[in-house]
Amino acid sequence: MAEDLLAYCRERTDEMVDLLKTLIAFESFSSDKAAVDRLVDEMAGRLEALGAVVDRYPEKQVGDILLAKWNPDAPGKPITFLVHLDTVWPVGTLAERPIRIENGRLYGPGAIDMKAGVTIMLSTIKVLRERGEFPNRPIWALVTTDEEIGSRYSEGLIRKVAAQSGLCLVMEPATPEGALKTWRKGIANFVVRTVGRASHAGGAPEAGINAVVELAHQIIRLNEMNDLRNGTSVSVTMVKGGHTNNVIPDSAEAFVDVRFLTAEAGERIRAAIEGLQPVLPGAKVIVEGRESRTPLERDEKMRRAFAQVQRIGESIGLEVHEAGSGGGSDGNITASMGVTTLDGMGATGEGLHAVHENVLISSLPEKVALIAALLKQWEM
Ligand SMILES: [Zn+2]
Repeated sequence: MAEDLLAYCRERTDEMVDLLKTLIAFESFSSDKAAVDRLVDEMAGRLEALGAVVDRYPEKQVGDILLAKWNPDAPGKPITFLVHLDTVWPVGTLAERPIRIENGRLYGPGAIDMKAGVTIMLSTIKVLRERGEFPNRPIWALVTTDEEIGSRYSEGLIRKVAAQSGLCLVMEPATPEGALKTWRKGIANFVVRTVGRASHAGGAPEAGINAVVELAHQIIRLNEMNDLRNGTSVSVTMVKGGHTNNVIPDSAEAFVDVRFLTAEAGERIRAAIEGLQPVLPGAKVIVEGRESRTPLERDEKMRRAFAQVQRIGESIGLEVHEAGSGGGSDGNITASMGVTTLDGMGATGEGLHAVHENVLISSLPEKVALIAALLKQWEM
């Protein structure tokens, strides 16, 4: 019974590929609300056809958000799928780069990130219904439209839904090797500004305080904060300073991208950056923190959750591996709330946000079988 689940899903690979092509054909660039809403309409119809009760949350700047529920009154906390419909590709990309299949991989804009994840979610529900194995537990799907622009419109709802959930399944792609993501780094962005005093570079250089030189000192210090061995990176990514060639500059700024594995490491670096002191007499250093994501930590809860997925995989004849990512996802939000989160539950593929973006087709039925088994077997 359990083993034939995988075979059953593999026999339906063509159906999954057709669904993936259909979803890609609805181009859905994050900031193109009209285009994204066309896919939202399509999704709402598909979710309802699969037996869900669907609530729609209107949005002004981005596509509307959907919350679908199966078995809302069944006992226990829901298992919640997190998917996003938006992509980084403007309408018209598909005409330039049509869908193609080569060597068992499907290429197309948004294919791996994350139309394939949406395909897997819809196919999992369908398979469980067809087989009469739909578990008697609440299953939810939060369908957002702004993940690629930092989830700033959906974050409130993500938090609200996650707070009620027992497990979040983030349908972002697996690693290129097919592993789940049991850690994701936290991200913090800073702007370090230096302020000096302007003066004519020829007439009175001694009267100036050079903000660019001050910034150079700070950049070296920032660079010394790197601790790559422990997963902390501090990268100065952009600098600006001065405005005229013959004037000692009175202002300069550096943009800093910081990544870290634990909230504690993030706090340490934040304190160090905010504590930067000026080197030149009379200069000032002003630090401003920008957006950030807390890390998805490979903590005890994560280790237990992964061990359970591995056992469930074994029960249907699939080996499940784990790895991590330096990039963030909505899983960073849910995990930081203490909600058990499994990330990288989407397809295997390559080239997120790149022109060679592709999906390994054989990973579609495998993930459908794994998640179908998980929905049946998961113990909170
Ligand atoms: Zn994504």
